[in-house]
Amino acid sequence: MRTESQIARIAAKGAGGAGGPYEVHTTAGGTFEVDLVMYATGRAPNTKSIGLEKVGVQLNKVGAIAVDEWSKTTAENIWAVGDVTDRINLTPVAIMEGHCFADTVFGNKPRKPDHRGVPSAVFCQPEMANVGLTEEEAKRTLGELRIFTAAFRPMKYTVSGRQQRTFMKLIVEAATDRVVGAHMVGDDAAELIQGLAVAIKAGATKAHFDATVGIHPTAGEEFVTMRTARADTTPTRAAAE
Ligand SMILES: Cc1cc2nc3c(=O)[nH]c(=O)nc-3n(C[C@H](O)[C@H](O)[C@H](O)COP(=O)(O)OP(=O)(O)OC[C@H]3O[C@@H](n4cnc5c(N)ncnc54)[C@H](O)[C@@H]3O)c2cc1C
Repeated sequence: MRTESQIARIAAKGAGGAGGPYEVHTTAGGTFEVDLVMYATGRAPNTKSIGLEKVGVQLNKVGAIAVDEWSKTTAENIWAVGDVTDRINLTPVAIMEGHCFADTVFGNKPRKPDHRGVPSAVFCQPEMANVGLTEEEAKRTLGELRIFTAAFRPMKYTVSGRQQRTFMKLIVEAATDRVVGAHMVGDDAAELIQGLAVAIKAGATKAHFDATVGIHPTAGEEFVTMRTARADTTPTRAAAE
């Protein structure tokens, strides 16, 4: 797994220069050979040529529809939800925003979508998932942190001999003991993080995690048996600023 890598060039190494395997060159100068390349390019909001400017709906600088915290546009009677507003572009988030809009405008139950603590996953191999703040975000916005990590080869792979490993990280705000982020790379990461997202949304502390009994033998039990914080010191918010 290579983070912060940009692909500069892909060369087909198959017979006659067509098909795989492929040699991938990064802008940092690295080269590696792979069977397949899946290249994510991102998406742009499809907001042009539908007359939004004529009805007073403003766009933001990336061309998404600008909305307030109620999903209301700059036009008095027009709301927008989902990817076209470029908040967090995920299906359950679009559903939450739509549900809040319907409750507020038609259900006589005003509520705003809450974009904090939205879990997400990348369904690659190994799978990645997280909820809450990254370590960098926590360092920027909070005071002292305690970081707990675990890296191991799942027990089932000791039988099969497979070398794939799992990595987990919990980020805890030292002053409140609140778990502000959970991260995982490994089998079933999305399934595990979905469960932890409930605890983190509910404001669970590290003491709650420590008091929770694990299921043995699972990868998930590692999240409730991390006892020793990583040794390195973390800058306070003032230091980060
Ligand atoms: C390849 C891919 C994989 C993804 N995987 C995941 C995933 O695993 N999990 C996850 O949570 N999210 C995933 N997403 C994101 C998810 O699909 C979106 O967040 C979600 O579909 C947003 O819902 P939406 O209703 O806002 O937009 P959309 O589902 O995009 O719906 C917008 C609709 O508006 C229509 N439309 C566009 N322009 C016009 C127009 N001018 N007039 C009339 N109709 C128009 C479109 O045809 C479309 O039907 C993925 C997205 C992509 C592209």
